[in-house]
Amino acid sequence: MAIHLSSSIKELPGVGAVAQKDLKALGIATVRDLLFYVPFRYDDFSLRKKIVDLQMDDVVTVTCQVNMIEARPASKNRKLILVEAIVSDETGELKVVWFNQPWLTKQIRVGSRISLAGRVENRFGLNMMNPVWEQEGENTVTGRLIPVYGLSGSLTMGRIRNAIGNALLCVYELTDWVPDSILVQEKLPDLCDAIVSVHAPKDRSSLNRAVERLKFNELFLHQLLFAEIRRGLKKASCFSIPINEESLKEFVSRLPFQLTQAQRRACWEVVQDLAKPHPMNRLLEGDVGSGKTVVSAMAVSRVLEEGKRVVYLAPTELLADQQQKALQRFLPNQTIGLLTRSRARIGNESVKKDQILNGDVACVVGTHTLLQESFTMNDLALVIVDEQHRFGVKQRHALLEREQGLQAPHLLSMSATPIPRSLALTIYGDLDLSILDELPAGRKQVATAIVSQEHREGMWKHVLEQIREGRQVFVVCPLIDPSDTEGNASVVQTKKELKQGSLNTCSIELLHGKLKTDEKESIMEKFRKGEIQVLVSTTVVEVGVDIPNATVMVILGAERFGLAQLHQLRGRVGRSDHQSYCYLLPGPVMGASLERLRALESTANGFELAEKDLQFRGPGNVFGDSQSGFPDFQLATPADVDLMKKARDYAAELLKQDEKLEQHPLIREMIQEANDSVHLE
Ligand code: ADP
Ligand code: MG
Repeated sequence: MAIHLSSSIKELPGVGAVAQKDLKALGIATVRDLLFYVPFRYDDFSLRKKIVDLQMDDVVTVTCQVNMIEARPASKNRKLILVEAIVSDETGELKVVWFNQPWLTKQIRVGSRISLAGRVENRFGLNMMNPVWEQEGENTVTGRLIPVYGLSGSLTMGRIRNAIGNALLCVYELTDWVPDSILVQEKLPDLCDAIVSVHAPKDRSSLNRAVERLKFNELFLHQLLFAEIRRGLKKASCFSIPINEESLKEFVSRLPFQLTQAQRRACWEVVQDLAKPHPMNRLLEGDVGSGKTVVSAMAVSRVLEEGKRVVYLAPTELLADQQQKALQRFLPNQTIGLLTRSRARIGNESVKKDQILNGDVACVVGTHTLLQESFTMNDLALVIVDEQHRFGVKQRHALLEREQGLQAPHLLSMSATPIPRSLALTIYGDLDLSILDELPAGRKQVATAIVSQEHREGMWKHVLEQIREGRQVFVVCPLIDPSDTEGNASVVQTKKELKQGSLNTCSIELLHGKLKTDEKESIMEKFRKGEIQVLVSTTVVEVGVDIPNATVMVILGAERFGLAQLHQLRGRVGRSDHQSYCYLLPGPVMGASLERLRALESTANGFELAEKDLQFRGPGNVFGDSQSGFPDFQLATPADVDLMKKARDYAAELLKQDEKLEQHPLIREMIQEANDSVHLE
């Protein structure tokens, strides 16, 4: 059967049921998906050297003959099998060692010629440890820039490279939707060439151009979507909600705390926007814990008083649940509803989904599920998008698309992503910005420390003291099951160890993504009520969770998380006037990431951390990663601001000439696809 872009990956030779499942976990279902699955870095093995010229720390390819190869147990650790080889070329000999790959003695024949690639080390003389290898002349994993892909399950690098190699056979079916004129002007390669170069780069410069092209795709599409949102909002009329000082004062007087100056300013900006004849399009930015919810609650309060409706979107069910409760607390005289995939609630009472869909309550908090349901949105005056970077521009665009013909709702997006004002304006054009640059009074900086192996016992003692004082603790691990062999901590194993060891007197519970929604909720609820003292969790607690009594965040395998993510995790504590602590426990394999953890130790400010994060990205890491916390983009990073400006100008120009995109059906299609592909959890 012929393979096409739309074919399922299982049609590809070598992709069986297991590989199909593993690829699915990476979001890859079709051949097209696979082509757009970009490497997260490249190993540069293009430098070739003769053995005599090798120096320590060279990253090179060496082509040589195998003189000897044998396997033996290591002398200290008998479980470790060493494969040792002596190889040579016309200039000299080199020792090579592989760990735990005894089969190599069968695959690599004495007398054969092979290519080795990796780093040259110096332990009792120059050698190579665990280099990749292949027969001379194959040139698939040595001798050039080698793409390295993110993996999942039992997927191997060889297998995914192979699958991509096969998928590349239909790369020429791709249609390029970016107008030629732009490509020519910007000297960007066409889409096929770019995709080929990204997976099989000839050299650095063709790779760089290909990367530029893919980033441009992303930025250009986003700018088009933004431009449409902006234009739509500008033209649209809306329900204007008059300013009512009495009611605002009353709202403020009911709060259990004093608003910060920054909160007051933001509230006032929002309230003024609501009174205008065109819909608000405002981004409320504030570091974790700066108190964004209450600002949005004030807007909700005004809209409800005027008899209009509100939709509040949260990125996960957990957060939707929490934010519904928070709004209900801030607005005791109103009824707040909740709708997620598995929950429907009005106030504290569970109800049938239909009751919410029929429009029985005027303010509904929900996940993206809301966008997909046939939900009555008459009189919808305000849409709040919490943690907006988790939604992305596609979701916002889709939401506003639905509303065509009606009065457009005001749009308040909220984000803890620290993007500087100038960059935000480049990304979002003339969107209005409120920044909460102040934490509520009395907050103490979270004391942050990297804890080495020998200090862990002492740390757990301190954790126990905190619990005895009535405080609560998060323990975050990178994994759910103890399935992985590299010694990474899992929640299951960690809970067991704590229960048997340092925290045997405490109530400990697990929280992770594989639990059912009601299990998750009931655990969060118990934690919120203080019935659970220690919550051992995966990163499901990462975004927005607000438990003020929790004062300790212990992060196992901390080097496995990105800086932005670690900052978010740390933001789960320090949300009251109790002193809080964040302990970073690196796993057994550390390396360069120690630098990042140090940055976290020394910096509390999310904006500063974001800048440091950028500096840590080496040149090998050509794409931003989804952990960078940079909103909306998978490939582009804040460093691509120039390209972003270009994309913005081209988008504006294009829409000026062809507002309805009638002469650009391919672009229309891309936008439609973006709207259709809206999904989250
Ligand atoms: P975020 O900006 O991260 O979404 P939240 O809105 O969840 O932060 O607020 C964090 C915590 O701080 C909540 O428990 C909230 O009730 C509390 N809070 C908000 N504003 C203030 C304030 N001005 N003074 C004291 N506590 C506040
Ligand atoms: Mg929040």
